[in-house]
Amino acid sequence: MAARPVSNLPSGERLPLIHHHPLRPCQAGVAAHPRDMSHPFASGAKKVRRFREGVLTRDGWQCRICATLLTDGASHERSAVVDHIRPHRLRPDLTWDEGNCWALCRGCHADMQGIEKRLSPDADAIAAAKLRRRGIGQDGWPVG
Ligand SMILES: [Zn+2]
Repeated sequence: MAARPVSNLPSGERLPLIHHHPLRPCQAGVAAHPRDMSHPFASGAKKVRRFREGVLTRDGWQCRICATLLTDGASHERSAVVDHIRPHRLRPDLTWDEGNCWALCRGCHADMQGIEKRLSPDADAIAAAKLRRRGIGQDGWPVG
């Protein structure tokens, strides 16, 4: 006697299992610039995920300015942002240079965007101004 196939229907008929993938927005690059698809990190490409994770792991998932512990995802105030110290628009050659990137919280990243606006297009002045902010919390007092 032939073995009866395992069935998931009362009729004994076998249906292929269908795996539903809910439409899920990719979280890889959205934290950096939510609506800016020209940003090199805006795509969910594997290269982007690996690069971001490399920087975040190196920095211990901690904001390099205010030392806030960071979380994944894009919508939390502690969501990790990988920021280009020298902006990628001014120094596209440093876009994929880990040494030009650091982990920030959203609040500190917003401060960095202010610095970029003020000092653009001088990438070196922007970098110097950003790095001077290390160790200063969002309340303006030294961290730690
Ligand atoms: Zn911060």
